[in-house]
Amino acid sequence: MLSVKKYQFWFCTGSQDLYGDECLAHVAEHSKEIVECLNASGVLPFEVVWKPTLLTADMIRKTFNEANNDEDCAGVITWMHTFSPAKSWIFGLQEFRKPLLHLHTQYNEEIPYETMDMDFMNENQAAHGDREYAHILSRMRIERKIVVGYWKDKAVQEKIAGWMRTAVGVVESSKIRVMRIADNMRNVAVTEGDKVEAQLKFGWTVDAYPVNQIAEAVAAVSASDTNALVDEYYEKYDICLEGRDPEEFKKHVAVQAQIELGFERFLKEKNYQAIVTHFGDLGALKQLPGLAIQRLMEKGYGFGAEGDWKVAAMVRLMKIMSYGMKDAKGTSMLEDYTYNLVKGKEGIIQAHMLEICPTIADGPIQIKCQPLSMGDREDPARLVFQSKVGPGLATSLIDLGNRFRLIIQDVDCKKVEKPLPKLPTAINFWTPQPDFYTGTEAWLLAGGAHHTAFSYDVTAEQMGDWAAAMGIEAVFIDKNTNIKDFKKDLMLGEVFYR
Ligand code: MN
Repeated sequence: MLSVKKYQFWFCTGSQDLYGDECLAHVAEHSKEIVECLNASGVLPFEVVWKPTLLTADMIRKTFNEANNDEDCAGVITWMHTFSPAKSWIFGLQEFRKPLLHLHTQYNEEIPYETMDMDFMNENQAAHGDREYAHILSRMRIERKIVVGYWKDKAVQEKIAGWMRTAVGVVESSKIRVMRIADNMRNVAVTEGDKVEAQLKFGWTVDAYPVNQIAEAVAAVSASDTNALVDEYYEKYDICLEGRDPEEFKKHVAVQAQIELGFERFLKEKNYQAIVTHFGDLGALKQLPGLAIQRLMEKGYGFGAEGDWKVAAMVRLMKIMSYGMKDAKGTSMLEDYTYNLVKGKEGIIQAHMLEICPTIADGPIQIKCQPLSMGDREDPARLVFQSKVGPGLATSLIDLGNRFRLIIQDVDCKKVEKPLPKLPTAINFWTPQPDFYTGTEAWLLAGGAHHTAFSYDVTAEQMGDWAAAMGIEAVFIDKNTNIKDFKKDLMLGEVFYR
């Protein structure tokens, strides 16, 4: 499994020396208590680290630069317990380069009606101290997440948790390296894009390799390693021969096992976390990588088909953002395949030739071996399953020539009405929000691709925050979308992101 580092988030409390030592001692006690409570809540996916109260411009600047240079720190949470004059924050904020959360909270939940005096008023000033701080963030046009509410409230803690995952997506984005095996499919527009701009904006490295270089790595995998993996497949999955000879079937499966091992070794050796293939350019590979790619995606690798490096990077990104999530339902590349247009049952079958990640599977997973009906290779073995039901998120990152746009669509995943006994691919089936007609029209207006990076676990808010951190346009298609306003969103993007 491709793991994600155990990042930490720094908790920085703002104050000043106007109120005396006793007050500052309380500020420190309170912020320590908040950090301990957040860490003990079980809600946050990463640890919060308490930092001494920030009182002066020098301290603030020093702390933010230490956060920049600490490789384990994925972001800073700030909170002004008392009034902290915001000009003190200018130098530190100018130099800070990591995700920033402004936690707008207060130590006490309720107004202390019986005891409140001027000492209390001086000590507990988040309601206006945090406004002074937010003002300078806005004046400096600093992208940040704001979470408002009481720190013991689970909803507040969950918002912090969601932001932490986004922040890790932001800091890990520049570590995503995509290996392209062959070029984009000829004449296709939407899978193309500016790789230099992608590196500038997202930090992605996108490199091409000749297909036969990776095919040699596959050929170098020993028969014993291959057979051991085939045994694992036969234990884990249901074998669906569909009239094929069992020995011949097993040989086809072994080809995919050898590809899985060869690809994984090649990716690891060269430090890539995402891969792109192309069914029309397979060199010495005997089959289109199907089962092999499905298993690599399950292990955390990003994948894009037909040269689609943007989807490969996005799938990896969304796997990072949902890493280690309790009760995660899965993340995969998907493709809009075909519609059901029956009134009241409208939806889109999501599939691909082969390459759907088994993390999204619901129920048993079969291995099938069927003709691809395109290309010139052996019938590839693939994993076949249906996907989970429930809300999901489809994203498409497109290159508009002068900029990237991220399209973020809420979808409702459902079971297909009837079995599909002759379809030898894994599928998902969804109806876009707010309804099939509006959701599909909006997607077409926005120029969304037929390939998507899909997740049950990452939210639209998180992807929007990620896009904002990357400085790119994001458009949302959700339960509130109507075409008239959506067109205005797109027009606004044309002006703002030129
Ligand atoms: Mn495709």
